[in-house]
Amino acid sequence: MKKFDLIIIGGGRASNLAVKAGSLGKKVAIIEKSSLGGTCPNRGCVPSKLLIGYANVIRGIKESNRHFIDSQINNIDIQKIFEDTNSFISKIDSRYESRFNENVEVFRGIGSFLSNNIIKVNNEELTAPNIVIATGTKPVKAQHEKAWTSDDIFPLKGEVPKSITIVGSGFIACELANFFSAIGVKTKLLIRSDRILGNEDKQITDIFKKEFSKNVDIEFNTIIQDIEYLDDKFELTLDSKTKGILNHTSEELLYATGRKSNSGSLHLENTTIDIDTRGFIQRDELFQTSAKGVYVVGDAAGEHMLQHAAAYEVNHLSKILFEDSKEALNFKYMPHAVFTDPEIASVGITEEQAKEKKIEYITTTTNWLASAKAMSTRLKYPITKFLVNPNNYEILGCHMIGPESSSMIHQVLAVMHINNDIRHLKDMLYIHPALNEALLPASVEAVKEIQRYNENI
Ligand SMILES: Cc1cc2nc3c(=O)[nH]c(=O)nc-3n(C[C@H](O)[C@H](O)[C@H](O)COP(=O)(O)OP(=O)(O)OC[C@H]3O[C@@H](n4cnc5c(N)ncnc54)[C@H](O)[C@@H]3O)c2cc1C
Repeated sequence: MKKFDLIIIGGGRASNLAVKAGSLGKKVAIIEKSSLGGTCPNRGCVPSKLLIGYANVIRGIKESNRHFIDSQINNIDIQKIFEDTNSFISKIDSRYESRFNENVEVFRGIGSFLSNNIIKVNNEELTAPNIVIATGTKPVKAQHEKAWTSDDIFPLKGEVPKSITIVGSGFIACELANFFSAIGVKTKLLIRSDRILGNEDKQITDIFKKEFSKNVDIEFNTIIQDIEYLDDKFELTLDSKTKGILNHTSEELLYATGRKSNSGSLHLENTTIDIDTRGFIQRDELFQTSAKGVYVVGDAAGEHMLQHAAAYEVNHLSKILFEDSKEALNFKYMPHAVFTDPEIASVGITEEQAKEKKIEYITTTTNWLASAKAMSTRLKYPITKFLVNPNNYEILGCHMIGPESSSMIHQVLAVMHINNDIRHLKDMLYIHPALNEALLPASVEAVKEIQRYNENI
């Protein structure tokens, strides 16, 4: 049996922990069944966002007539796009491994538990006083063996299809639909309900629905009743609540219907580690599972399922393990973005959540047209929506739709993190006429609305 100070199962975000522990002189085993770096740089956030970069340029040219420019795209060198994206992915594993010092040993294989403190990988047995589970998630399986999930498309290979049907309504489905439609692939999005991006504020998704549908053919309230794969194509029978039975042909079919726990491969039945009904690993406020010395971080705990959350948790666990911190990590605000066209960014509660939880709030919606930079985009739809506590000016939620929303929202985040009071956004000095200047009337309006609300009580 090989003895270590720390065993990490899953080399995604937790590879940072291996780097840190190794630098502190700890003997570390890190077990990875696929590529070090995990989902985000290999088949998630990074490659999908590299594709969005191409999509944005293409859309800019295609929509240049909004700026009175008549232009056309002569050629999109898809093979170069694929090559460039793949070349980034191909270097990830070695780049991550090169960050480890001599104290870190990498085991390539599936790690599983023989007991609370013995891990099996390939034919070896390892033990350590501290074990970290960071095994992430996997996509919900596609409903046909020839269909893809997001895991199958990176690295990008083969010919670009003429048509693709994407099943799902979340951010992964929308981001991939955005890319494929931008490069000229006939793209259909199938959504079983009438909501797209169901976790976002409804007012934002109403705008999104209208704008996104200009480029992507969305079929709401529709499920796939039957799939046949004939002559290299999917022949789909769709069941639409509003249109009845529809026949639809598509060269490719991609499922982006959610992510599920990876805990099956860990053989947790050999341990006292508890999982919830969805298979996600349960933990206390210091990330410890129900087995002493065994911790869980990142997507494997099934909480936020975002790269920045996983990275933050790993950093915090390092303090618990190596600095004897007893401080619980409580994400007061968890921001996120949807990198589509239109782009969405959001933090805090939505109006629907405020109503459901009976939280007292005021809300304001302000367009961005006060900023000349925003005006220069010649887009009318961008808005900022605030939900604010009328008793103390605390920002409860902020939702944006418009170009660079994911950057814009960081100003709101900074205020929320440092001293959450919307009056800071109203009182600060803005660069004129930067995009962020759109936050000035938005915050002024929210403060006025609070005053009106309080006067009327
Ligand atoms: C298409 C896509 C786009 C995304 N875009 C964004 C985005 O824009 N922003 C954002 O914040 N998040 C995004 N995410 C989510 C983000 O990728 C995850 O939140 C993040 O990767 C979680 O990190 P993790 O370390 O917990 O898990 P992972 O990165 O999934 O790492 C887990 C690792 O464990 C390995 N593993 C699993 N089981 C075992 C085992 N038994 N033995 C050995 N190894 C094992 C896996 O191979 C994997 O490498 C996206 C995800 C996808 C799929």
